[in-house]
Amino acid sequence: MSRSGSRDSRPTIQQNLCIRWVPTDRVKDLYERLVAVDLGDPGAELVEDIIACPGTDTCGLGITSSKGVARALAEIFPPGQVPEDLRDVSVKISGCHNSCAQHHIATIGLHGVGKRMGAHVAPHYELHLGGRITGQPKIGQMTVKLPAKNVPVALSHLLAVWRRDRQEGESLLAFIDRTGKAKLKEELIPFTILPPFEEDSSYYYDWEADEEFVMEDLGPGECAGGALEMIENRILEAEQELYVARLLAEKDQHATAVNKAYRAVLAAAKAVLVPEGIDPNTDAETFVEFERRFGVTGMIAAEYTTPSAKIGDLGPKETTAAFAAEKLRYAKGFVEACKTMSEELGQKLKANETKPDQATQTAAAVSPAAVTKPVTTLDLRGVMCPINYVKTKLKLEMMEPGEVLEVWLDAGEPIKNVPQSLRNDGQNVISEVPSESYYKVTVEKVV
Ligand code: SF4
Repeated sequence: MSRSGSRDSRPTIQQNLCIRWVPTDRVKDLYERLVAVDLGDPGAELVEDIIACPGTDTCGLGITSSKGVARALAEIFPPGQVPEDLRDVSVKISGCHNSCAQHHIATIGLHGVGKRMGAHVAPHYELHLGGRITGQPKIGQMTVKLPAKNVPVALSHLLAVWRRDRQEGESLLAFIDRTGKAKLKEELIPFTILPPFEEDSSYYYDWEADEEFVMEDLGPGECAGGALEMIENRILEAEQELYVARLLAEKDQHATAVNKAYRAVLAAAKAVLVPEGIDPNTDAETFVEFERRFGVTGMIAAEYTTPSAKIGDLGPKETTAAFAAEKLRYAKGFVEACKTMSEELGQKLKANETKPDQATQTAAAVSPAAVTKPVTTLDLRGVMCPINYVKTKLKLEMMEPGEVLEVWLDAGEPIKNVPQSLRNDGQNVISEVPSESYYKVTVEKVV
């Protein structure tokens, strides 16, 4: 781990020394020696003493430059000048989800991830708030996913909100507990917005990086994770649209606010269609598919079963404040309902997952007789990852154990990812046979 206040990655002193009793002159001597090698900065164990793992600087598993963002945060927590009220706050940053910096037990914890926008990927951090090991231990709550370049400004805003709204003497930790994730998320949503590469390419470069950020795509067998991420990103998009809609309404730009509320509803509807294996191309298709699938299931309140009628009418150009307020109210409720539903539906994607080693054993136990059974064909040529995986999973769910499905998959990512994901689900992938420009994958349903 490194201390950002020390400007580089030298090891932490506290972890390596055990001092029982040392004469004063020896302490002074030690201090002078530490200063001489640049290890005498003030602030140990204070908020400016940010803990950051090696991240992409030296760790092969690193996704983001945790030390880079830690150094960027020195502007907010300047060594030796941090206000007294931040004394008990801790900041810990991991360059990936492995949590070597223990970000999950910090007041402010961050861990690096990537987020794709079209052909580019931008470094991001998941922000976890309220973690601790003292008093009542608690894991920090994942609150928002921030572009790496927005982390300092987002944290500045968080501190400003705390100073604005705190009760007398209330610590940041207590404020986080009292305020809750939903309200804090609302405050931080504006900082989650990632501009397209063409608008601001700097977001696609990590802190202190000279080259554009790249990240390996999810590996083979991680289709379920890809689908969950797709759902999460669409819900986030819906929340961002809602936020902008509210701002516009406050500025009396009612027609544009209504349009943003409409976009929020669309994004949320598209999120819950992912577990159904549907990725609509048009607004009309989104509404049709949503209403067909959720209109009568009882999974969502009746008010939200016909969004095309409720939000499709954008009203006149010179619309009224009351009209906009009603649309915003509807959109907010719809997004919340879809969010709840997406969490339930997402569980289906996680179900039946087995460990990769178990998956290998399952594949090895294929019955040769299986291929002689009747085969159902599913043509998924032209269907992108991870929707092709979700469609296959849904099809298998409708079949009986022992039945065989033949899936047609494109070369490239689909053939690389889908069969391994099915193995991870516990299915028997019997064969992967190339056929012209695509592959025929034969799967025996096991679970
Ligand atoms: S948290 Fe990730 S990036 Fe940081 S040291 Fe651990 S494995 Fe490497």
